[in-house]
Amino acid sequence: MGHDARSTDARPQTRRAVFISSPDLWRVGFGGKHPLKPERLARTVALLTAYGALDAPNVEVVTPRMASNEELALFHTPEYVDAVRRLSTGDDRIPAHRYGFGPGDNPVFRGMYESAGLKAGGGIQAAERLLAGECEVAFNFSGGLHHAAPARASGFCIFNDVAIAIAYLVAQGQRVVYVDIDAHHGDGVQNAFYESDQVLTISLHQDGRTLFPGTGFVEETGRGKGAGFSVNIPLRPNTDDATYLWAFEALVPPLIQRFAPDILVTQLGVDTHYQDPLTTMALTTEGHEALFRVFSSLATMPWLACGGGGYNLDVVPRSWALAFAVMSGQTLPDALPQAYRDAYGGEWLHDHRSPHLDAATKARARWQAEEVVAAVRSAMGL
Ligand SMILES: [Zn+2]
Repeated sequence: MGHDARSTDARPQTRRAVFISSPDLWRVGFGGKHPLKPERLARTVALLTAYGALDAPNVEVVTPRMASNEELALFHTPEYVDAVRRLSTGDDRIPAHRYGFGPGDNPVFRGMYESAGLKAGGGIQAAERLLAGECEVAFNFSGGLHHAAPARASGFCIFNDVAIAIAYLVAQGQRVVYVDIDAHHGDGVQNAFYESDQVLTISLHQDGRTLFPGTGFVEETGRGKGAGFSVNIPLRPNTDDATYLWAFEALVPPLIQRFAPDILVTQLGVDTHYQDPLTTMALTTEGHEALFRVFSSLATMPWLACGGGGYNLDVVPRSWALAFAVMSGQTLPDALPQAYRDAYGGEWLHDHRSPHLDAATKARARWQAEEVVAAVRSAMGL
């Protein structure tokens, strides 16, 4: 035939990629000085648009729809869903505090039911598209709200789009591996599947002794049928790219390969960045991109990616643009597009600086990572 297979292999992989987006996702938010600013989402789309990354022939932008009551009930109690809906309209007869709402992390705001419901609906749509074989990767970048509990808002999260999407996938007979790289422990998702052997949850995060929600220790490995299907990799504050990637590579690929999932679900919170205002991890955009590339190489099965945390407005759009570039097989120039620079500033897509860490700090982080990797290997029989 004269066809050279090697030249085919050398081409960058272009998978069909769905990006779930609509301005309705960022019209409202917690407001005031709350760190989960809707502008994180608007800027991410502005950057991808300025690069032309959403116009690529293998990319489809899908408008999210509201999750139905039945879909929300895959994880949440009907009583909670009804309370969110009524609080969202300004109904002050509902005891907000009973459902985790109030001043601080989770203030009530008008339109929160629609805002959270769209993010959850987007997760279901991403799962539907992947299961139908209409795409190989899907990014529900406004989701990743991994702290919400069945009857309670928690840690800026109202509806747990991740737990809902995974429950939907499990109901379709899928074996799901969930990997959470947010700086905070993915407690809501872990708890949802703590007694299930159909979902392997893996969370890497800043040590719970130093950060909300205060859980995610190596000893939390699942219960009953789910024993051995929850993995936690707590890392010391100031863990940098090299140590984080070392721990990730030591555990995540072998755990995924052994579990042999039908689908990969990832929570791509980027609050591990060294300039994030809420955490004290020390990753850079290079570290984030390296993690996205490992996921990409592991994703020989469908890949549903969700967003998550990330509170530095100059970092989040760049890291998530890198994520979608990796997912959709695009290479973005390092110079930020002029239109984006004019609107939001900045110069480069990647960090051109790195955190200043002394040798002792790096060594302490590495030492804890080595201990944790050894403990997880032992607990999981790796
Ligand atoms: Zn987080």
